[in-house]
Amino acid sequence: MYFYKVQKPTLTVSSWNLTPDEEIKEIAKRYRSLLKTCRPFLDKANRKLIRRAFEIAVDAHKDMRRRSGEPYIFHPIEVARITAEEIGLGTTGVIAALLHDTVEDTGLTLGEIENEFGNVVARIIDGLTKISGLYNKSSDSTQQLENFRKMLLTLADDIRVILIKLADRLHNMRTLDNMPSDKQLKIAHETSYLFAPLAHRLGLYNIKSELEDLALKYIEPETFRSIVRKLQETKSKRDRYIRDFIEPLHKKLTEAGLQAEIKGRPKSISSILHKMKKQNIEFEEVYDLFAIRIILDSPPSLEKTDCWQVYALITDQYQPNPNRLRDWISTPKINGYESLHTTVMGPEGKWVEIQIRSRRMNAVAEKGLAAHWKYKDQDGDPALDAWISKVREMLESPQHNTMEFMDEFKLQLYSKEIFVFTPKGHLLKMSAGSTALDMAFEIHTELGLKCIGAKVHHKLVPLSYVLKNGDQVEILSSKIQEPGPDWLDFLTTAKAKNRVRQHLRDQRRKLAEKGQNKFLDKLQTMTTEVGEDMLHRIAFHLGLPSVSDLYYLSEINKINWSEVQQAVRRKYRKSNGDTLPAEASPERPNGDALVINHPSVWMDGSDREFRYSLAPCCNPIPGDEIVGIPQPGSEMLVHRQNCLNAALTHSTAHHRTIRTRWNKGARVAFLTGIQLRGVDDKGIISGISRVITEEMQLNMRSISVLSEDGIFEGQIMVYLEDTQVLQDLLRRLRKVKGVHKVDRIEKSTPNEA
Ligand code: MN
Repeated sequence: MYFYKVQKPTLTVSSWNLTPDEEIKEIAKRYRSLLKTCRPFLDKANRKLIRRAFEIAVDAHKDMRRRSGEPYIFHPIEVARITAEEIGLGTTGVIAALLHDTVEDTGLTLGEIENEFGNVVARIIDGLTKISGLYNKSSDSTQQLENFRKMLLTLADDIRVILIKLADRLHNMRTLDNMPSDKQLKIAHETSYLFAPLAHRLGLYNIKSELEDLALKYIEPETFRSIVRKLQETKSKRDRYIRDFIEPLHKKLTEAGLQAEIKGRPKSISSILHKMKKQNIEFEEVYDLFAIRIILDSPPSLEKTDCWQVYALITDQYQPNPNRLRDWISTPKINGYESLHTTVMGPEGKWVEIQIRSRRMNAVAEKGLAAHWKYKDQDGDPALDAWISKVREMLESPQHNTMEFMDEFKLQLYSKEIFVFTPKGHLLKMSAGSTALDMAFEIHTELGLKCIGAKVHHKLVPLSYVLKNGDQVEILSSKIQEPGPDWLDFLTTAKAKNRVRQHLRDQRRKLAEKGQNKFLDKLQTMTTEVGEDMLHRIAFHLGLPSVSDLYYLSEINKINWSEVQQAVRRKYRKSNGDTLPAEASPERPNGDALVINHPSVWMDGSDREFRYSLAPCCNPIPGDEIVGIPQPGSEMLVHRQNCLNAALTHSTAHHRTIRTRWNKGARVAFLTGIQLRGVDDKGIISGISRVITEEMQLNMRSISVLSEDGIFEGQIMVYLEDTQVLQDLLRRLRKVKGVHKVDRIEKSTPNEA
């Protein structure tokens, strides 16, 4: 929550018309104001260092200008100011911020920076340069996600890299008006998708809200402006209400001898909009447009007692909503946030949210824990360290593809925390949605692997039980328990999932080792040729990724021996120079070649076979209405009747078209294209592939995904038998969470067929 500040209008090229002398004065002025914000840590030595960094930056950027026309140095100065004032970093952070663009954009080298300021500053700038390089070099969104992941890796090195990057982004967002509009949109989307959540997770609530609002300003400009306008229109009424609401509280607090500041603040534009969208209501119906914050001047030893005393005084005056009491003081959020929240019924029957906290808690809430503790007092913070090590775990787990990683990471960023207890009363923080099995893994990996269930409040629950806030959970385990593939469905943490995947792989490998002889013995009864070639041929024929899968399946008695036999025979014939007639073997789709079973298309009204191929423009499949177009001197080309190319050929070239129909009964797979659109929701890809490969048991040839600006677009090429299967598939895909639109690909522009 923060005040939406109407930014001073940014200078444009035409209005930037200071003389060189005036510019120098302006730079000096801005530098002095930076120093003012650094005052808390500005001893003589630090002042000298910052001065040096400033001089180097001025010199390095001396010939550069921002898009607005102003000297480039304004940007690093402003980033440094944000770093000190709004994030709360000290000297090292300010120096790194001043120099953050030098290595990338100017001739300055890391070595020079290291000589001047030492190894720590150099490493931070190295981190910032790498991130920046990553961002500029690619426009591909998948690549960007990968870059984001790399950026997070720097968290492990020095969290100040990320904090300064956030300051950099904030200033760029504040001055985004000067960018061309296509860039504005891209940067705004990236900000709302990646940087605002990151700020949230690091406890930088003010920066998070401002980033969200600024992003909204460019993504939904009309909505943004209308909410700003309505907030302004209702301001005086709201101010009066806040005054009336606060007055009795003020009195009570003073009587009780408590020193406190009470203020009412409007909520951020994006949080108001979020509420409007979520509850499908109008601006006028959003009741909590503002929140009251009470900040106590209590010494640390009394702050908790005082906060609860304030709670008691408030609820004497106003009726609280018992469901809205949140005690983040006894158990702070993972990012260090501490506060007591309640919602009470104010005058005119309006609900009012109240936050009660000490001045120290307020500093943490505004600047984030990272800055406040870790780099001012030099004390590590256990909660933050725990979070960073979790992120590191995720980043370092090799199994992750980037999409999965982002899904999981976003989940982590946004997830609410719940608290559960062990039988001995030990408190564990888990993400909302965690299961009993997750908790077992959280306690200990071995306990996770042997978990058979749990008791919650003395009642037996399954592994998949979703934990609730306040549950007291006893994990039950058994020595003979083995993880199964279904465990992946109800584990939520990356670490536990990876551990289970690894276990499953080990299990499979062991079974494959055991099954090898069994398979080879049997194969020898079919053929004398049991070399590598043959084994690969069989695996390929059965659609298995590797030979060891043959062994594994044979060990668990799930192998289809008649298909093995078929593969062996095909090989045999081929080696005799004999090609297998296509119709003898309804074969599996393989590689790029379309599998065509020639007699499966007959001409209408006759049972005469003809040679044909399927038009690649419309990919007809059985069940489609089709039409054959004879090609000069060769086979017939079969189109779908509604294919534009067919229509075009038909109307322009006077080709004879032949009505054709499918010969039912042949088991052949045809290649079909499907396109999907949706919001880039977590788990969307796994949802889609679950439907295709697991529910429908279909073979996918390719999937290509374009995810940009939160919109997900995918094209899938899949093999299926006929339109009935296709309809079934489309119906199921439409139900996948996040998917909005699913269609068969119909080429609308005629092309060469
Ligand atoms: Mn920058």
